[in-house]
Amino acid sequence: MTALRVAVVGSGPSGAYCAQLLTEESGSPVEVDVFERLPAPFGLVRYGVAPDHPRVKSITTSFAEVFDETPGIRFLGNVQVGTDITLDELRANYDAVVFASGAQVDRNLGIQGEDLAGVHGVREFVSWYQGHPDTKTDAFALNGKRAVIIGMGNVALDAARMLAHTPEALRATDVPEHIVDAFAASTYREIVVIGRRGPAFAKFTNKEFIELLEVDSCDVVIDPADLELDAQQQAHADADPAARRLLATFAKAAERGVLGRNTAIRFLFDCTPVELIGEESALAIRLAKTSDPNITEILETDLVLRSVGYRGAAIDGLPFDEKSGTIAHLDSRVADGRNVLPGVYVAGWIKRGPSGVVGTNRRCASETVTSILADVAAPGWTSTATPAAVVDELLRSRGVDVVDWTAWQSLEQAEFAAGEAVGRERVKLHDRAEMLRAAGVGVGVD
Ligand SMILES: Cc1cc2nc3c(=O)[nH]c(=O)nc-3n(C[C@H](O)[C@H](O)[C@H](O)COP(=O)(O)OP(=O)(O)OC[C@H]3O[C@@H](n4cnc5c(N)ncnc54)[C@H](O)[C@@H]3O)c2cc1C
Repeated sequence: MTALRVAVVGSGPSGAYCAQLLTEESGSPVEVDVFERLPAPFGLVRYGVAPDHPRVKSITTSFAEVFDETPGIRFLGNVQVGTDITLDELRANYDAVVFASGAQVDRNLGIQGEDLAGVHGVREFVSWYQGHPDTKTDAFALNGKRAVIIGMGNVALDAARMLAHTPEALRATDVPEHIVDAFAASTYREIVVIGRRGPAFAKFTNKEFIELLEVDSCDVVIDPADLELDAQQQAHADADPAARRLLATFAKAAERGVLGRNTAIRFLFDCTPVELIGEESALAIRLAKTSDPNITEILETDLVLRSVGYRGAAIDGLPFDEKSGTIAHLDSRVADGRNVLPGVYVAGWIKRGPSGVVGTNRRCASETVTSILADVAAPGWTSTATPAAVVDELLRSRGVDVVDWTAWQSLEQAEFAAGEAVGRERVKLHDRAEMLRAAGVGVGVD
């Protein structure tokens, strides 16, 4: 019986779940090729989820089992869809193509001075400390006094925590040695986290905030006066138990006060960024009180991180919803208005935007797989896919150095060896050419 052949673009949680669920839920043979532009799999679980969250990161063990143990699932790393192979080529060679390519772009604030040096999207900062091969190893020099993080979501807290950790705490993670060194040399002693609304509307979870309180190298500074809620915040807190839990933890933090620790993380609520001030680099940020824009304040700063959300990037040939930063779809089938593009599907953050936890992508992938399997079960459907060798030959003819699963395992071994050499469990390789050498493919890239 001819196998159903599916191309999945992206090896993050949604791509991995799609591959797994396709093989589990189809009653007939399925072959899935998972294309990944990076030499390493797992998307934001490797390059987003904070290094000091090993429990969340350990989901990669079950994703690895999917690639390791499921006949018919292949990992094709270091292959960028759109450059190394086009959408039309995927459509010609597979029965179905699933875009599970995530949200790759930082949202902007849309204020003056945003393009000054020293102002970055938090994604750039996270990618750098996670050793993402698209970032330069020396992209950040942490040699200022005050860092400002705009936004009050979990990612903002991840970034603040990383700036507050001791080198010893970082050495217990897998961040590259030069990143540990950069944080060890950091002169930032004050990190200001800014939220537009009052504390009742902070978006991070109580769990993440408690974790910050447990970092014993930093003070968490909350002004007790900010916890006197106006009517709108009170109504929100009355209706939302999660907000009430977080407010209770804020109150404990305010009560604990300042203990004179190495770094202080200060929370400023009800503040709207108005302008970044400076000639070439940002030297200060002008803030206005959200509840009374006539009250403004200028805060000197050496580093500004915008943490106001990730968004997907448009993909040539696919309908894109600019507002939500997602690929338009109907029941996971890519669609321009009511017109479905046959055989092309979406899953994960590029489908629904950056929301939820890793496990949310399983449910999301399951909906996608249900649509694919319903379409191929329709009367008259026949496979038009080509054998795997055709795509392999196409990539070979273009000189693409594919990192397959075995090559990735070699890269992983090199990371464990690099860790052992410096008395750590594992150390990520950061430089793309070095990653490819460790994977045993090619000798380097541009
Ligand atoms: C900083 C941060 C911290 C987080 N922390 C947590 C946490 O603690 N707990 C939790 O549950 N969730 C956390 N999340 C959320 C979680 O990471 C996401 O829910 C999940 O990764 C989204 O999965 P995805 O597969 O849609 O996208 P991604 O994980 O982004 O995967 C997309 C993949 O597609 C690849 N790709 C993109 N374009 C192409 C192309 N053209 N060709 C080939 N490959 C391509 C990318 O390289 C990437 O590997 C965090 C997210 C961020 C940003």
